[in-house]
Amino acid sequence: MPTNYSPSDNRPYACDLCALTFSRQHDLKRHRDTHSGEKPYECNGGCGKTFTRKDALKRHQIVKNCGTSGDDHAAC
Ligand SMILES: [Zn+2]
Ligand SMILES: [Zn+2]
Repeated sequence: MPTNYSPSDNRPYACDLCALTFSRQHDLKRHRDTHSGEKPYECNGGCGKTFTRKDALKRHQIVKNCGTSGDDHAAC
């Protein structure tokens, strides 16, 4: 009987600053840049993508229907 020790053993690279995990070290490294401020805009859709510019993040969220941009479009 297999021991299900980890629920995410195919994503061994876990960020120590948030709950995201990654299957490749490269992805974790890229993600970690968000915590150092190099790419401060991170998608909140759980995909782990990060962006240097807010408009790039917003475009990703619209195109991929991923996460929410949140603070735009106040009622007019
Ligand atoms: Zn993180
Ligand atoms: Zn996303």
